[in-house]
Amino acid sequence: MNIILLGAPGAGKGTQAKRLEERFHLKQLATGDILRAEVRAASPLGMTAKEIMDAGRLVPDALMIEMIEQRLKQPDVAGGFILDGFPRTVPQAEALDAMLSRLGQKLQAVIEMRVDEAELIKRVSGRYSCAKCGASYHDDLHAPIAAGVCDACCHTHFTRRADDNAQTMSVRLLAYREQTAPILPYYTAKGILKVVDGMQDMDVVTASIHKILGLVA
Ligand code: AMP
Repeated sequence: MNIILLGAPGAGKGTQAKRLEERFHLKQLATGDILRAEVRAASPLGMTAKEIMDAGRLVPDALMIEMIEQRLKQPDVAGGFILDGFPRTVPQAEALDAMLSRLGQKLQAVIEMRVDEAELIKRVSGRYSCAKCGASYHDDLHAPIAAGVCDACCHTHFTRRADDNAQTMSVRLLAYREQTAPILPYYTAKGILKVVDGMQDMDVVTASIHKILGLVA
């Protein structure tokens, strides 16, 4: 099964994609994570992307399309994938269709996770993660059980994304409204767009996604 999780920054795509990956062995392809790894490795792509990402803007389509095409050819995605953060523009969505048909693959569903902007800003401004295992936390909404110690792996170092601040978030939300939201009618026309209320509790959102996909948890 191949699916896309669509939604603004902070909508919960990463959390839900990880849950689907663990439960149903689909591969999470998070383009933001792949780009951040390229930045850490100081690769040519990473060097180009860093400034754009820090400013909250979108990396050019040609670079993103090439990156995801290479990734989709890897054997570990053959059993199904969840795209988290791609496509983010109509040209990316069109390129994805073309590459999937070249690979003999199909999209089963595109799930839009809808969350109010005020809530998105609150979620993104306080979020941080374990530097070792990537478990997510939030200053006000979800602190580790023991202060300063990761619940999942007991590591004591945490990181915050450079772009998770109020100023950059306003640019990221604008990019979502102007460049990403026009994808929604594209997938509606194909009859594969489903909408989930992302304001609900995380477990309820997970259950709604399972229902849409016809998966029994
Ligand atoms: P994310 O982790 O999904 O919030 O992505 C972080 C940043 O990576 C975005 O703000 C963009 O600068 C860049 N990025 C990730 N995916 C894409 C994409 N599909 N197209 C353009 N830029 C992207």
